[in-house]
Amino acid sequence: MTAGTSVNVKRSNRLSVLQTLHARGPMRQAEIARACNLSTSTVSAIVSEARAQGLVVMSDSELGAATSDRRGTAVAFNPELGYVIGIDIGQTVTRVALGDLEYRPLSVETVRSIVNTPSDEATQRIISATQRLMENAGIDSGRIVGVGLGMPSPQDADHRTIEGQHIFPGWTGERIRQEFENLLQKPVFLENDADAAALAESRWGAGRDVTSLLHVLTHAGVGAGIVLNGEIYRGASGRAGEIGHISIDAHGPLCYCGNRGCLQTYAGGDAVAAVLRPFHGDDTSIDDVLLAAHEGERTAIRAVRDAGHFIGRVLGEVANILNPEKIVVSGCFPRAGEIFFGPLRSEFDLKAMHGIADIQIVPSELPDDATIRAALGIVPIDLEQLYEIRD
Ligand SMILES: [Zn+2]
Repeated sequence: MTAGTSVNVKRSNRLSVLQTLHARGPMRQAEIARACNLSTSTVSAIVSEARAQGLVVMSDSELGAATSDRRGTAVAFNPELGYVIGIDIGQTVTRVALGDLEYRPLSVETVRSIVNTPSDEATQRIISATQRLMENAGIDSGRIVGVGLGMPSPQDADHRTIEGQHIFPGWTGERIRQEFENLLQKPVFLENDADAAALAESRWGAGRDVTSLLHVLTHAGVGAGIVLNGEIYRGASGRAGEIGHISIDAHGPLCYCGNRGCLQTYAGGDAVAAVLRPFHGDDTSIDDVLLAAHEGERTAIRAVRDAGHFIGRVLGEVANILNPEKIVVSGCFPRAGEIFFGPLRSEFDLKAMHGIADIQIVPSELPDDATIRAALGIVPIDLEQLYEIRD
């Protein structure tokens, strides 16, 4: 073996150890050795060196879920080796977070609604919030490894330009990622919010025990993200998962996409709230509908049941194509529990083929504010680069 090859093997081994710790949480050295297919003496040498460089810490805290042996001190990836910024741009509220390298939010700032704000003004507000977060935490920008930008809008295939004219009218066509990169001088990663949420659910939520997952986000509309083999499936032009625009009635209401009878014109939160306004008042929101259903109000219950029925129908058809291991539903409707999930599962069973109808359909296990962690999670962590910074 040449000296160069030996160095490469060493680098490859230590990267493997770091990647395993980053992905699986704290582990004992013997478990790391098994997971990385290395000898315990090699792991021990790597851990000593990485510890001296601050890349890992000895952890007395609870061992990771993947751990079977709970004796002894665990080794953990040092999550504060660097930091990430997550920007969760929503239709009603935008939040900016500073997070560690395990994508846990450390501090969060809320920026007022920016839906109808020109993109340059909105961008400036977000940049100011980002700078305040770093100042308050006393963190130099050199320690920020990247910025994740989650938006409820379609993007072009290379995730640079905002497409669609219906959610952020003043932003369409803007090269928003480039603009943020220029202002923050950091790599910026743009992602559709449903895709980011799907990835978060697969990492930390109800999908953490499977590798393929369909994640359905119910909010004003209905969106979905697809995770295959642990990675987001975006499709050829970046628009995979637009289940809200699957037509369930060719003669149904006209949708902004130009089609008729799209799922979200029946089962989007906005559509359901609109149906109930004649009975519950002009300012009825989907939250009001869900509360009324919870309190037993009949029209609200019927509206939520219908939303479950329509979403179940589309999910059955989609499952026949994708056959995911699990379907996770998040957003507003799961709060209605079985009022929503009962009709959803019944209709799903009718549409999904034998062998597919057994797929588990479960509510999200992430809290309501998981979208901010999802935005942080958009940033890929280049462990090799972190290692090299300290070489
Ligand atoms: Zn549509």
